[in-house]
Amino acid sequence: MTTDPRRAVPRTDAVLAEPQVAAAVARLGRDLVKAAVQAAQQRVRGGELAPDDVVPAVLAGLPGTAGSLHPVLNATGVLVHTNLGRAPLSAAAVEAVAAASGTTDVELDLRTGRRGPRGEGALSALLAAVPAAEAALVVNNCAAALALVATALGGELVIARGELVEIGDGFRIPDLLVSSGARLREVGTTNRVSLADYTDALGPDTGAVLKVHPSNFVVRGFTRSADVAELAPALAGTGVPLVADVGSGLLRPHPLLPDEPDLQTTLAAGADLVLSSGDKLLGGPQAGIVLGRADLVQRLRRHPLYRALRVDKTTLAALEATLRGPVPPVRRMLDADLGGLQARADALAEVLRAAGVAATAVPATARVGGGGAPEFELPSAAVAVPLAFAEPLRAASTPVVGYAAGDRTLLDLRSLAPEDDERLAAMVLEVARRWT
Ligand SMILES: *Cc1c(COP(=O)(O)O)cnc(C)c1O
Repeated sequence: MTTDPRRAVPRTDAVLAEPQVAAAVARLGRDLVKAAVQAAQQRVRGGELAPDDVVPAVLAGLPGTAGSLHPVLNATGVLVHTNLGRAPLSAAAVEAVAAASGTTDVELDLRTGRRGPRGEGALSALLAAVPAAEAALVVNNCAAALALVATALGGELVIARGELVEIGDGFRIPDLLVSSGARLREVGTTNRVSLADYTDALGPDTGAVLKVHPSNFVVRGFTRSADVAELAPALAGTGVPLVADVGSGLLRPHPLLPDEPDLQTTLAAGADLVLSSGDKLLGGPQAGIVLGRADLVQRLRRHPLYRALRVDKTTLAALEATLRGPVPPVRRMLDADLGGLQARADALAEVLRAAGVAATAVPATARVGGGGAPEFELPSAAVAVPLAFAEPLRAASTPVVGYAAGDRTLLDLRSLAPEDDERLAAMVLEVARRWT
C-alpha cells in the first residue's frame, strides 16, 4: 500500500482516454480539457479529491463552450446595454446565424453556379423595410459607415458644432471623421445652428453635409438646429449630398420615442444617405446600415476601404432574419406593457419568497440605453432582493446583472425576455442556497 498520494494521481493520458473525457476533447479541444485534468490532478495531490473521482471532477470543471463569452441575464433595465452586447438576437436570427455558419451561398448563385451578389438577402430585406431607399450597404458598425462616407465622399464635411458627438468609451465622431482624411467645416455654435450657417459654408471642396443625431445627450434652452427637411431643399441643385447619421436604427417612427429619428422618415425628408447601427433599436447584429441614393451607395461600395469594412456571412444572416422574422427582443422589451411586467415581477417574487428569499416586487424605471433616447424613462417592474446578492449573482452559473437601489439589488424585468424568468429565479435560488 502506498502512502504517497502523488503515486495515486491518475495519469493525464489515461484520463483523456476515458470515453466521456475524450468526447469533451472532441467538443472543446484538447487544451481546455487538459487544463481541467491538470486542475483535478492538483486537487488529488493536495488530498482534496479521491483518485477515483478525477473523471467526474474533470467533467464538472469543463467550460460550457470553447469560448469565454457567457450568456448573461440582463436585469439592469437598460434595454440596449453596450457592455452586455447591445441587442440580443431573436431566436430566428440565432437560427439563421447557425445555418449560415458553415459553408453557405453568401456569394454564390446556386442556380448558375457562378459568383453572385454578396448578402443579397439582407440588402433586399433592408430595402423592403425602408422603401424610401434606392440602395443599401452593410458594414461593420455605424462608425465604419461614417468612416466610409468620410473617406469616399471626403473633402470638406460640413457639420454643426452641436453635433460633434462623443459616442462612448472616449470615441469621438469628429476624431473618426478626421482620421479618415476628411476636413471638418464646423458651423454654428454649441446650442444654435441655422440653415444659412450651412449654406454659407458650402464651397468647391464640400464633400457632404453631415447631420449626426445626438443620441446620448440633450441640449435644452436657447437652442436651434436645422433638420433634414429644412436642409434638403437648400442643398438641392448644389450637388452636395446630405448624409444623416440617425444612430439608433429605428426603421419607422416609434410612438414612444418621438425624438428618435428613423431611417424611412429621414430619407423621405430628403437625406441622400442615412446611416445607423444594426444592434441598437433595430434589434439585430452589430452592423452599420447605409441606405439611400443608388449612385452614392455605389460609390461607397466601389471604394477600396469598403473591402476592409464589409461584414461576414453570419452578420448578414442575422440582419436578414431580424428584418424579415418575428419582432426582435429589443422591440418586444420596448413595447412590453407595464401590467405584464408587474405580473412577472409578482410571480417571481412569490416563487422566491416561497423558497425563503427576501424578495418583493417593486416599481422600477427602465431606459433605452446606448440605443438612444437619453432622457426617456420607461415604467417597469423589478424584483428586489438583498443588496449582498449583487456580486454572487454576477458569479452565478448563468450570470445575472441587476443594479443597486438603496439597500437592495433590483432585477428589472423589462430588459429580460419573459422566456428567461425561470432561469432568473433559478439563479437567485442558487445564490440563496450558497448562503444557507
Ligand atoms: C451609436 C452611434 C454611433 C456608433 O455606432 P456603432 O454602431 O456603435 O459604431 C454613431 N452615431 C450615432 C448617432 C450613434 O448613436
